[in-house]
Amino acid sequence: MPKRGFKRKRDDMYGNMNINEGGEGTSQSSNTGRHPPELRGKEIGLFYARRNRERGKGNWKLKRDAKPLGSITLSETKKSQIGMMLRSNSMGNIFITDNNSYDHVEDSLFKYQFLSNIRGNMMERLKAVEPGIFRNECLDKRFLSELTNKKNDLRYQAMLNKRRKLPSYEKRKDLLKIIEENQVVLISGETGCGKTTQVAQFILDDYIEKNKGSACKIVCTQPRRISAISVAERVAEERAEKLGESVGFQIRLEKKLPRDTGSIVFCTTGVVLKQMESDPSLSTVSHIILDEIHERSIPSDFLITVLKEVIKKRNDLKIILMSATLNAEAFSKYYNNCPHINIPGFTYPVTEYFLEDVLQKTQSKLFQQFEPSTSRWDYKKRVQKNRGPLSVEEQEFKEYIMPYARNLEREKKYDALVCEQLKNPDSEILNLDLVYELLVYIVEKEEKHGSVLIFCPGLSQISGLIKKIENSSKFPPSRYIIFPLHSQMPSIDQKEIFNPAPQGKRKIIVSTNIAETSITIDDVVYVIDCGKIKTADFDIELKTETLKIRWVSVANADQRRGRAGRVQPGVCFHLYSRARHMILEKYLKPEILCKRLEGTILTAKILQLGKIEEFFSKLMVSPDAESLSIALALLKRLNALDSVENLTPLGYHLARLPVAPQMGKMILLGAIFSCLDPILSVAVSLDFKDAFQIPLGKEQEADKKRSELADDTMSDHIVLHRALETFEYESDPSRFCWEYFLSPYTLKLLKKMKEQFMGYLKDLDFVSNLNPKNAENNQNSKNMSLVKAVICAGLYPNVAILKVSKKGIIKPYMTSMQTGQSCKFHPKSVLSRTRSFSFPLVVYYKKMKSTCDFIYDATMVHPLPILFFGDRYIHSEANGKHIVGVNNMVRFTADSERTVSIIRDLRDRLFWFLEHKITHPGSVNWTSSSDELNVLKAIMELITSEDMGDVDEESFDEDFDHEDDC
Ligand code: ADP
Ligand code: MG
Repeated sequence: MPKRGFKRKRDDMYGNMNINEGGEGTSQSSNTGRHPPELRGKEIGLFYARRNRERGKGNWKLKRDAKPLGSITLSETKKSQIGMMLRSNSMGNIFITDNNSYDHVEDSLFKYQFLSNIRGNMMERLKAVEPGIFRNECLDKRFLSELTNKKNDLRYQAMLNKRRKLPSYEKRKDLLKIIEENQVVLISGETGCGKTTQVAQFILDDYIEKNKGSACKIVCTQPRRISAISVAERVAEERAEKLGESVGFQIRLEKKLPRDTGSIVFCTTGVVLKQMESDPSLSTVSHIILDEIHERSIPSDFLITVLKEVIKKRNDLKIILMSATLNAEAFSKYYNNCPHINIPGFTYPVTEYFLEDVLQKTQSKLFQQFEPSTSRWDYKKRVQKNRGPLSVEEQEFKEYIMPYARNLEREKKYDALVCEQLKNPDSEILNLDLVYELLVYIVEKEEKHGSVLIFCPGLSQISGLIKKIENSSKFPPSRYIIFPLHSQMPSIDQKEIFNPAPQGKRKIIVSTNIAETSITIDDVVYVIDCGKIKTADFDIELKTETLKIRWVSVANADQRRGRAGRVQPGVCFHLYSRARHMILEKYLKPEILCKRLEGTILTAKILQLGKIEEFFSKLMVSPDAESLSIALALLKRLNALDSVENLTPLGYHLARLPVAPQMGKMILLGAIFSCLDPILSVAVSLDFKDAFQIPLGKEQEADKKRSELADDTMSDHIVLHRALETFEYESDPSRFCWEYFLSPYTLKLLKKMKEQFMGYLKDLDFVSNLNPKNAENNQNSKNMSLVKAVICAGLYPNVAILKVSKKGIIKPYMTSMQTGQSCKFHPKSVLSRTRSFSFPLVVYYKKMKSTCDFIYDATMVHPLPILFFGDRYIHSEANGKHIVGVNNMVRFTADSERTVSIIRDLRDRLFWFLEHKITHPGSVNWTSSSDELNVLKAIMELITSEDMGDVDEESFDEDFDHEDDC
């Protein structure tokens, strides 16, 4: 029986599909052969343009019942206006790309670099490595005499006395010997034993003392920016030096490099990977120390694998893997059982308490009431009414926590109220009031003095708690110093955290898991472990990465406890019950299993690591095949990879921009369409983090302020741009930040990132100056329709289709084009408060799953940008109606064949134009009347006309009216 589907009647000359519903789909045109001989000039270009677009798209089916979402009408004036612009324009024949010859691309540095990248492979490049380390006797002598003199320096001596007390110092000789005798070594040791600050110094000083200091150049990778800076500062201080002499750091956006040789540089792992693009063998480096590898971040897992290849060709490069004691053996095993040395640590005993003890000690009554209507858990309702399957957490609560609480009740070791509260599922949710009550208890009732370290999952909990503490009369600033500690904090505030509190004062540090291993604060005596951690998780079903607050692993809990016993016996309070502790996972999952992989794939490609699946299979843990294929599919849809997984010219540019590929594409288009400043603001805010803070108790006020910034743009992304723009121009930026609930620190970082991107764009030759605000880059920055169209081009295929009622009213309930699932605007989005939409389409970046799939940031877009930048373009004619559409879900009726042909023609020219710009980078000349400018103007004319569409009332039926879906 014939399957229902669709049939392409014929592929027209350029591969656009004329569709006719009702049959099986087949493609007539060959996907590999050359163009039909009868084609001439621009037609040949168009043939290849279409074919390239159709390549690698897999088997997609047109949704048979996809209804038009509205109609597109072009006025006669507009049609003739665009027609005139196009008539004068010619297109080159640029799409002959068989065998990746790229013959159509003119000879240029870009072409040379691009071709040598896609044709090369890392192992071949490594073969040709020239030695890059040379000894210099003069320097050797100088370094030695400096070090000898230093030994008389009082500051150095004082520091040395402290260093000598560290467990690593005792192992100094053993460490040096094992490093000397082996190419790869694994060093493990309790946090705080002196791995990060000491090992690199031991090596450097040993080289200097053996009069070969100039042959030593140590790179030590850190998982976070903040630790790279703080460790570098500490080590320089220990050496009685300033940063920039023998010690330096390099992170994205900031660096203070040390001298070329006889030096140590602390940098983020990403910096090393970037350096390997141009120097894959790290030819001038003598030792690379990979620190904190137990954290299993993607860059660290990735670098470990790449270096395994590098040392095959560089037998003089020493690799030192450093890890906390957690699971260290696995790393040694991965490196062919490399020798492993453990530094025995010394910590004082730490008494551990759990939630039941905390409730007992504080006499808290926070979980006395279980109010199903306000509870964030549906547990009781569901268990009692037997409704639906329980979530994992609910199941665990039922199976382990409840019986444990009942048992405690029987044993009568705790007050009845404590047991009663443990039976309330809300006691498993992080409650900042409880943290506050416990803190009050510690400072009022506990005997020991000493700093208190509190672990919270993220910035919003940290600021929420700090606000509570600061608003309380129990913690006057005269007696308490409160420190937030978060990876995005400014580095200046951090140093004080390490200093002992001044006489009569006490330090309270509220930190993320960063204080678990990378940062050690010695005088901590009390630890409050909230038991939760924020980590990413890749949701295969949603095809998206979600940030989740989850239970910590046993490894996290142990580390947190250990922080309390650095200088004397300490106390650790875990805010979960002993029963919960028993069922915690042993370790957290490596990041490679939890994150989107597009960026990592592009890094692998630019490093010429060959076939993706093969390389990823060499990692310590390979990502799920499905998430790999989702990432590869997206990269192909973005036209970053071709069908045989080679980087395309666009992909080559994207791989060199340190942002997610969708943001990179948006930025390149922002440069081409000369609306760079707003686009950069949007892209960096989406990629890094937006500057809006979540003020506890003032959420609605903050929402209002965001809506104010959005004005009538129907866009959260424009809000991001306006926040940054106002901050950059405002005469009193701190007042503006305060009024609009923005973090000035984040805004400053974002501003800096924009400047950094200008550097990248200039390297890629897409701009001719380094100022994001330069008029040349912002000819069209005031044109919000164009800015939104470029946002749409970057974020596509993250499109959601709003539901429309029978009466043609658009409702804020959507179906994701990617997954076909229902979703809703997150309350934070300005569109969640919008009551009237003119078009049923939005683009978004972040989608999260909680009670429903939430879209966090959205921009309502008009049909034409989607039709222009979307893939899988179709047009058809049925019952006298002209249909145009992209993907298998978005379709519109067009008022006439002429409108369809204008859209189609311009789409082809846009594609040609972009392909041309990408392969021939250079800024657009907006002053002359060139062909390229005419194409751009015609496209802009069409994609920025926001007044020509209408929601088509007749097209909708009940299928589109599912308000209850979420
Ligand atoms: P590990 O890497 O083994 O966890 P570190 O080398 O980071 O240990 O730290 C060793 C010791 O150095 C810590 O216990 C602490 O006393 C001290 N230390 C580290 N960083 C700093 C700093 N920035 N300021 C003051 N002391 C520090
Ligand atoms: Mg360390």
